[in-house]
Amino acid sequence: MSVAVRFAPSPTGLLHVGNVRLALVNWLFARKAGGNFLLRLDDTDEERSKPEYAEGIERDLTWLGLTWDRFARESDRYGRYDEVAAALKASGRLYPCYETPEELNLKRASLVSQGRPPIYDRAALRLGDADRARLESEGRKPHWRFKLEHTPVEWTDLVRGPVHFEGSALSDPVLIREDGRPLYTLTSVVDDADLAITHVIRGEDHVANTAVQIQIFQAVGGAVPVFAHLPLLTDATGQGLSKRLGSLSVASLREEEGIEPMALASLLAKLGTSDAIEPRLTLDELVAEFDIAKVSRATPKFDPEELLRLNARILHLLPFERVAGELAALGLDDADAAFWEAVRPNLSRVAEARDWWAVTHAPVAPAVDDPSFLAEAAALLPEEPWDLSTWGTWTGAVKAKTGRKGKDLFLPLRRALTGQDHGPELKNLLPLIGRTRAEKRLAGETA
Ligand code: GLU
Repeated sequence: MSVAVRFAPSPTGLLHVGNVRLALVNWLFARKAGGNFLLRLDDTDEERSKPEYAEGIERDLTWLGLTWDRFARESDRYGRYDEVAAALKASGRLYPCYETPEELNLKRASLVSQGRPPIYDRAALRLGDADRARLESEGRKPHWRFKLEHTPVEWTDLVRGPVHFEGSALSDPVLIREDGRPLYTLTSVVDDADLAITHVIRGEDHVANTAVQIQIFQAVGGAVPVFAHLPLLTDATGQGLSKRLGSLSVASLREEEGIEPMALASLLAKLGTSDAIEPRLTLDELVAEFDIAKVSRATPKFDPEELLRLNARILHLLPFERVAGELAALGLDDADAAFWEAVRPNLSRVAEARDWWAVTHAPVAPAVDDPSFLAEAAALLPEEPWDLSTWGTWTGAVKAKTGRKGKDLFLPLRRALTGQDHGPELKNLLPLIGRTRAEKRLAGETA
């Protein structure tokens, strides 16, 4: 049996870190098993699904490197859902119901007030042909519920271990709306069965759906996949991250926060697992380390500060080739490996490279505290060409001449050469600043 998994987002909003973590875990699971990864758009909610969200999902996954082997879209498959629904109606597993939303609310409220679970009472099953004809003549259209078997439903979840539900403790789910549209609970099963999905890995908000869907798999004659339900990410206060709020969307982490794809992947692959979170530069490393058995049942907390710290650690390791495109997009067309290696230890985000580009390639107003010391130092500047040894040679000479050492020696030079108290190692910056600018800055000129 070859492993097949799917990521099935609804294109009704931007992907946030919680959704994309599920995409990543599915993708890692597939790659580890040598299986395949399906991207399926659950787009049967036509009021809320939007093409721009579908495009956004593809863009976000591509940015992270989560390529898909197969693609499907539920809105292409209505004919198939109709066929399955007709078979379920014919076998009596789908039955028509006529209650309005208000009537259902009243029923639920009355059950809850008696301290009973709000399970649908199957009143519609007691309607005769004449009752149905009367209701339809009043203009009511049926929605259709799936008749659950009142037997235990059990599965061994790859994250939660053995799970047990009583069929009698669940409400018969509505699978077809009044307007004839099939709902997710059905469409997802039909797709998983038709596309031979072997493992359904999703959020724990779907655990009760799984109990119902296992019975639907059985009713439609599909093989029941293995399930894994991951605890959902929360923020630091334990609140859920809602997609509808657009909070922590992948798009804003990329475009506004300057997060690198491997920083997000390194964090999300390990959050809530027994592995330590460490910077990883390739998805292959994450595949090698992945094991769904490492996912814990405890609620993982997503901390944007932790992501930014990891982003910095990733940047400090990334070779120039991996950021050349981003640097060019910032307008730093001439940035080269020497520049990148000089500045990357000081960056949390690639865009901050602009600040150091300005120091090496644009006029800087020097900070001058002791002009005569700087003049002595300037007189000792070696001739070009300069390289990584120039700083050591030069400051050695300045030290010998002036007797200064440590901070007294280095800080005034840094403040004059860069206008700042802190920054990348001057050994790396000095050759990029060059002699002409260095001489002027040491003389107190903006250069
Ligand atoms: N569209 C559903 C969601 O985004 C898919 C759930 C599933 O994986 O079955 O929650």
